[in-house]
Amino acid sequence: MRRKLAAGNWKMNGTRPALAELSKLQTPENIDVLICPPATLVAQAAETQTVAIGGQDCHAAQSGAHTGDISADMLADAGASYVITGHSERRTDHGESDSTIAAKSTAAWDSGLVAVICIGETLAERESGKTLEVIATQLAGSVPDGATGENTVIAYEPVWAIGTGLVPELVQIAEVHDFIRSELTARFGADIAGAIRLLYGGSVKPSNASEIFATSNVDGALVGGASLKADDFNGIIEALA
Ligand code: PEP
Repeated sequence: MRRKLAAGNWKMNGTRPALAELSKLQTPENIDVLICPPATLVAQAAETQTVAIGGQDCHAAQSGAHTGDISADMLADAGASYVITGHSERRTDHGESDSTIAAKSTAAWDSGLVAVICIGETLAERESGKTLEVIATQLAGSVPDGATGENTVIAYEPVWAIGTGLVPELVQIAEVHDFIRSELTARFGADIAGAIRLLYGGSVKPSNASEIFATSNVDGALVGGASLKADDFNGIIEALA
């Protein structure tokens, strides 16, 4: 049985006063709750010990001459237990390739972190009927050999649904999540594939969370905007619990 996960990605939002939101979050016993604050807040957020804390990115190397970057070891040292890899904003803003994302995910595992590996098609790719092809390519390239239910979560985030208020039809979410599960099964076998949690991400809100969570192979959500305020994120947590 896969444990449900409500994950929040604060992106480049939040200074120390935002940490007050963490203590207002509900933490039902039957699900995991994760917040990925900006790197500057990871250590302090982890000290609050209310929810699991994750980074939003890590370098593929654990140390070295990489000005401005943060390693998985550093995130683990700061108290993180997860890290997002391959978010579409990293793929777009920083030109991250599938192989870079796979290397970052391996670094995450080496530091004992769970990698939340993000994949998803653009609007142009969906409109040209290439969604499943894109998903298959990103899965094959971004998820390293050695993925398990303990070290990996996969987030399906259609790029056109992130921060736009647009959400795919539920049948479209089901189609992609079922496809991801079958691709994982073909590669890793049914036991491992059946243990890897699949999150949907893209304009999830308290008002649409329940129907999304009732969709086939959806084990939770990766939430951007609606994770910034505890009142909103609590609505999503309640829908999942
Ligand atoms: C995200 O940043 O991963 C995301 C899904 O954002 P939003 O919920 O704001 O669409």
